[in-house]
Amino acid sequence: MNYIFLALLALSLFALACERSSVNAAEKAAEKPTTQDAAVGHVEKSDAEWKKQLTTAQYHVLREKGTERAGTGEYVNNHEKGTYLCAACGLELFSSDTKFESGTGWPSYWRPIAPSHVKEITDRTHGMARTEVTCARCDGHLGHVFDDGPKPTGLRYCMNSVSLKFVPAEEKDKK
Ligand code: FE
Repeated sequence: MNYIFLALLALSLFALACERSSVNAAEKAAEKPTTQDAAVGHVEKSDAEWKKQLTTAQYHVLREKGTERAGTGEYVNNHEKGTYLCAACGLELFSSDTKFESGTGWPSYWRPIAPSHVKEITDRTHGMARTEVTCARCDGHLGHVFDDGPKPTGLRYCMNSVSLKFVPAEEKDKK
């Protein structure tokens, strides 16, 4: 009888220890930002603050994950040299050197300016499995990434113009 009791006690102590170590791991992961978060920082604002700062169209795409109508965006046919920043927080996202003609009606790039400047999240809305792309600093919705892009990456970052702010190369160099 005693043996059974001791065995049960040992088992429950073991289970408790296992549970505690997994909780600790989860806590550590939550409190410790990834290197990518640490590198670009984090901007967090309330919906009211974003509404005040952004235009209606920007708010709809960046904060409500909307999509601008194809062919209507400001940067679809922009061929100037420069850098595309996040329209919400100003983080550098894409270089004109990686922009290409995708024929989709949305500005398209084959690589972000730095891997740590965007986040890629699985998006299963609208009955599709797509990869959503957000700004790593403010979590603003930018668009989606597809694997039918040109070389060297084979990726197509399909972005909403309204989520971006283009800074021409000359202007940026002056600063
Ligand atoms: Fe941003």
